[in-house]
Amino acid sequence: MIEQLRRWFLRNRRSLPWRENRTPYRVWISEVMLQQTRAEVVIDYFKRWMERFPSISSVADAELEDVIKAWEGLGYYSRARNIHTAAREMRAKFPDTYDDLIALKGFGEYTVGAVLSFAFRQRHPAIDGNVSRVLSRLFAVKEEISSSAAKKQIAEHAWKILPEKSPWEITEGLIELGALVCKKKPLCEKCPLRSSCLAHKQGIAGELPIKKPKRAVEILNRSVAVIESPSGLLVGKKEAGRVMADLWEFPYRDVPFNWETFHLSLKKGTALNPCAHTFTRFKALLSPTYYKVDRPFSIPGFTWVKRSDVIELPFSSGHKRVLYNVLKF
Ligand code: SF4
Repeated sequence: MIEQLRRWFLRNRRSLPWRENRTPYRVWISEVMLQQTRAEVVIDYFKRWMERFPSISSVADAELEDVIKAWEGLGYYSRARNIHTAAREMRAKFPDTYDDLIALKGFGEYTVGAVLSFAFRQRHPAIDGNVSRVLSRLFAVKEEISSSAAKKQIAEHAWKILPEKSPWEITEGLIELGALVCKKKPLCEKCPLRSSCLAHKQGIAGELPIKKPKRAVEILNRSVAVIESPSGLLVGKKEAGRVMADLWEFPYRDVPFNWETFHLSLKKGTALNPCAHTFTRFKALLSPTYYKVDRPFSIPGFTWVKRSDVIELPFSSGHKRVLYNVLKF
């Protein structure tokens, strides 16, 4: 089974920018980016990031806001904050042992495994969602996939199948097989491992892995106020510890905008195109309105930023779409 997987991987692996010049830094950044997003989407982000921050020290020396700006659009901004912290922690030398890596901010089992395997070429599995899915099918794991019993079985299988010879090819081969063949809807007829796959033999490939029922998506209806004065647009930065922390947004309310709350008296505004923004288990439906005021006023937590500067700030993705609409007129 192992040699079949290796042969398949060496013939079919995609050419991706992070597979060239595999330094620990490049592996780390790409793996964090890939945690929630498909490889095709990550390619441009990764290239832009490497131009902006070509080394660990360039991240360590940067302001947090610049790091978050470079992460804009990828979501899960705590990851950008963790990269900034970890870059400052390691600065001089990228650790090459499990214990030193797992101690770094934001380094979980998967990231540590990927760095040890792909950058340092050590015999270590890297178990992401793709690999869990592939192994749960190969070995017909019938426990709920996020349970500790399933995780333990998957980890044991992942270690067991790793050979002494070029184990990183098998680790990455499993990831690639999950991305290209053993997808959510498995393409068993194209799979190099089908003769040894227990789920395929038992006819249950499509039913594995067993997942917890999903929590329903919660809809948030939000009124957004885009207020412009001669000093610029009124925007505020979310505080640390809150959803969208360190990102900039326009004032908004979960109910139609209540100007009394803002102590404002504004003339009727112009409705802008609505847009939607999904994060964690929420879908925010944003209904923005544009207001022009003659004089800037002071509101705690908000500041006026010129149109030419506001584009440089890291915005949450929903409010960024609102901003782009505003900047068009
Ligand atoms: Fe996945 Fe099917 Fe291959 Fe088994 S045979 S590993 S279920 S694609």
